Amino acid sequence: MLPFARVTIIGLGLIGSSIARAVRQAMPTVRLTGHDADAGVRETARALDLADDVTDTAGAAVIDADLVILCVPVGAIGAAARDIAADLPADAIVSDVGSCKAEVARALADALPGVAIVPAHPVAGTEQSGPRAGFATLFHHRWCILTPPEGASEAAVERVASFWRRLGADVELMTPEHHDRVLAVTSHLPHLIAYTIVGTASDLETVTQSEVIKYSAGGFRDFTRIAASDPTMWRDVFLTNREAVLEMLQRFSEDLTALQRAIRVGDGAQLFDQFTRTRAIRRSIVDQGQDDAAPDFGRVHE
Ligand code: NAP
Repeated sequence: MLPFARVTIIGLGLIGSSIARAVRQAMPTVRLTGHDADAGVRETARALDLADDVTDTAGAAVIDADLVILCVPVGAIGAAARDIAADLPADAIVSDVGSCKAEVARALADALPGVAIVPAHPVAGTEQSGPRAGFATLFHHRWCILTPPEGASEAAVERVASFWRRLGADVELMTPEHHDRVLAVTSHLPHLIAYTIVGTASDLETVTQSEVIKYSAGGFRDFTRIAASDPTMWRDVFLTNREAVLEMLQRFSEDLTALQRAIRVGDGAQLFDQFTRTRAIRRSIVDQGQDDAAPDFGRVHE
């Protein structure tokens, strides 16, 4: 039996439209309703036939839903939840896909007192945004982390877990605080580093911008993919997961200083040890199916 019969997606960008496409494929009998604050996005969603109905207001979208998923930037989740509060059926479950969980849990609880809330974070995405960027297989073999609040109904958590498994994801449960620390180091810090290095390279005066771009295959271009990620989403992530990011950044700065010292004093053994350790980490990511083993990310070399 399907976990839900009537699913509403609020926010039809990369993640929302990917969920819509994946639901269409994996659970074609589910009645799908969508809404986005942006009229242009709603129009595109209708043209792409992402849902059975795309409504002009958030309230109309949730009126008969049994699952509502908020797929808006983290900073907008509280407002999106307030927009649906009055029209939400009493037995509906509300979830989200936000990249930070502790703040989001507070925002959802404030906006929707008494509602069954099961927050989720699919650890899957690309550097693109908007309804055209989504695709149905985005969640295949990716983790979806659920962070149910204390006292959440087990049945509600299991229904949301089953929903994500049907979209191809593997599901794990964590506390929101633990989630935020894990993601600070695996996702948020790497994005901050990429944003920094791309900014630094483009600000250099002794090396021209055209040279930075011309010789980018030396490594730089792999950072530019991450640094091209959505500015609104990432501004909100850093403002929301502030404490955990600052803590990881402090550790990173200390490790960077240690490497800086190794270079200065010519400690080749330390550099070699560190690089050997990091190469093994890449191997475990490939072994666990979280990336392709093809060299150079599978780019075609003619
Ligand atoms: P996106 O492509 O920019 O889509 C978000 C959509 O939500 C936009 O169309 C936006 O409209 C709309 N929106 C904003 N505020 C709204 C509101 N109050 N009510 C209704 N619609 C609203 O972003 P995304 O990449 O799908 O990210 C959505 C969520 O997924 C974020 O919380 C993010 O942290 C999380 N997430 C992202 C990734 C990733 O790799 N991208 C991965 C996992 C989780 P406007 O553009 O007009 O504001």
